[in-house]
Amino acid sequence: MTNSDTVTELDKTLGELDLTGRLRLIAETGQPAIFTTSLGIEDQVITEAIATAGLDIRIITLDTGRLFPETEALITETETRYNIRIERFRPETAAVDDYVKNYGRNGFYESVEARHACCQVRKLEPLARALDGAAYWITGLRRGQSGNRATTPYAEADAARGLTKVNPLADWSLEDIRAHVDRNAIPINPLHARGYPSIGCEPCTRAIKPGEPERAGRWWWENDAKRECGLHVAKAAS
Ligand code: SF4
Repeated sequence: MTNSDTVTELDKTLGELDLTGRLRLIAETGQPAIFTTSLGIEDQVITEAIATAGLDIRIITLDTGRLFPETEALITETETRYNIRIERFRPETAAVDDYVKNYGRNGFYESVEARHACCQVRKLEPLARALDGAAYWITGLRRGQSGNRATTPYAEADAARGLTKVNPLADWSLEDIRAHVDRNAIPINPLHARGYPSIGCEPCTRAIKPGEPERAGRWWWENDAKRECGLHVAKAAS
């Protein structure tokens, strides 16, 4: 059996399970599994499921140094609420200093290249460190978040990073997520109620208007139809 057969089978099996079943299946492989959370509403649903079931999955966040204060407060609140530790991965100080010297602290507004360089320093390099040695990378991606994510599978090979990416909320709608949060009184970022369905770094996220796509508030000044930070695109293309 080839590796792609294995991932295809895993994708099929995950599709037949509920959220906790999906996460438990990965945790019980006995191989290192890492969940990266940006503390968005989807990620809070996954964190609650991992914590409630006591699953052996590390929970990691990328503390870019440019997060909203509301997001930073939610990290602490979530740790206290579920008695868990959310590991913070931060950018290298020297790399941030170099970026500021070359582009300016907010140089990302000036060009796509400058924006990608900032995401590389503050997100991608810390992510690579966070995922080092992982066999499974669990994310909160959903098909309904944007056109780029419309075909998100439950499991996919990430050949560049040498792991299997697992998206246990791939088939959940935003309505499903909100109902689950209400039912389980899961703490969420207060910014969601102020028009931010998708929350990233403070200077790169704005509230959206009614009818706009969920991720329209991310890097809103760019016209590119594929506005992603590089976390969830093939490494070679980022
Ligand atoms: S989202 Fe903005 S501030 Fe955050 S790493 Fe990317 S360019 Fe930098």
